[in-house]
Amino acid sequence: MTFLRPTLLTLACLLASPGFADDLPSLGDASSAVVSPEQEHQLGRAWLALLRSQVQQLNDPQLKDYVETSVYKLVETSQVNDRRLEFILINSPQLNAFAAPGGIVGVNGGLFLNAQTEGEYASVMAHELAHLSQRHFARGVEAQQRMQVPMMAALLTGIVIAAAGGGDAGIAAIAGTQAAAIQEQRRFSRQNEQEADRIGIQNLEKAGYDPRSMPTMFERLMRQYRFDARPPEFLLTHPVTESRIADTRNRAEQAKPGGIEDSMRYQLIRARVQLTYEETPGLGAKRFRAQLDENPKNDVARYGLAIAQIKGGQLNEARQNLAPLLAKSPNEIIYNLAQVDLDITSNKLADAQSRVDRMLTQYPDNYPLNQVRVDLLLKQNRPADAEKALETLLKNRPDDPDVWYMVAETRGLSGNIIGLHQARAEYFALVGDYRQAIQQLDFAKRRAGTNFPLSSRIDARQRELMEQERMVKDMMG
Ligand SMILES: [Zn+2]
Repeated sequence: MTFLRPTLLTLACLLASPGFADDLPSLGDASSAVVSPEQEHQLGRAWLALLRSQVQQLNDPQLKDYVETSVYKLVETSQVNDRRLEFILINSPQLNAFAAPGGIVGVNGGLFLNAQTEGEYASVMAHELAHLSQRHFARGVEAQQRMQVPMMAALLTGIVIAAAGGGDAGIAAIAGTQAAAIQEQRRFSRQNEQEADRIGIQNLEKAGYDPRSMPTMFERLMRQYRFDARPPEFLLTHPVTESRIADTRNRAEQAKPGGIEDSMRYQLIRARVQLTYEETPGLGAKRFRAQLDENPKNDVARYGLAIAQIKGGQLNEARQNLAPLLAKSPNEIIYNLAQVDLDITSNKLADAQSRVDRMLTQYPDNYPLNQVRVDLLLKQNRPADAEKALETLLKNRPDDPDVWYMVAETRGLSGNIIGLHQARAEYFALVGDYRQAIQQLDFAKRRAGTNFPLSSRIDARQRELMEQERMVKDMMG
């Protein structure tokens, strides 16, 4: 599938629009209007769709599931009011993470490369969530600390630039807006950074972590990038200084000891991300094997070695490495999914199927397990069953473009052509391409013909999407 990439200009203009729902009051003069919570939510969703069309993403269900679960856990004990979050995992080895107004949480693959423990990863996320809950994005105390529409547009555009790497000249031209620069300065003022550290530390402790992870992470980042001519984006916006580290250390030391520092699951997910950024599976295997030689009891290294071997086609060796892990922890989802992956790669589909079925009886709502179930059904030429299985997934992940993409493919294979077009429409809308989305619903309507209940449903959805597109055009003048 190909689709139009909205330009950043469209993006900035779309964000200056008052939001999509019909029941919203008109903003009138957008330059002075303040963003309401509901508008913030909708602007956030629209912006996320456009961000999705601009940056490469990581679509590993296990990584997505880990990030979502861990961030929701932190949000529970945080001061974030609106807890409707959406996530984007950006395929970049650079260290960065953000939590933006509208409840958009972004994480670069590079955060996993840099954060050596779950506690360190959680410190970064707790700090970012504190920027969100303290409304550091807002203009000031006036207007109930709510942002004005152009400011929010500028701010979100700034994040796109950071996420996209910032090197592109066209992107940089828009980045140069004064508003974006001022906004970034305000958000990352020393005072705001201190507050985000302080509130982040409190939240880490409440969520059960050892907050000492935060200064530990800062100290290591400072050592690591001290002489770096081009430090990662996160350090440009979050300068780590001796005094900041000392402040954070003092605060963290007041916490009771005994909080969570790390988890096996974090390390296993981290091994997956590390393998993603290895040039070849062979190089990954070599690095994990060296760790294993050093300590034969290092299960994370053994797991990393096994998945590198699956990727590199050394299937027998992978089987030998997974066997002791599964013997030790027969119900660990991550090990079982590796074995399923291995069985699929070795064309042992029946074995894979029975393992997935067994795991699903224990973890019926687990996203990665449900996803691999669909993959397996498709591999076994059972698209109708796959379609049914996807309905379960959609119930839990109605705004996930990866799932809608699979739904479209699967409906195509099972001959549900109307459903195929409807699913494609949802996919395109989620990645910010309304034109294609509307066109897909035209195809669906044509097929629906005289089935009036169906065609009127499609019609209603199409009108919603057209309204969104019209507003964008209006803004473009
Ligand atoms: Zn910060």
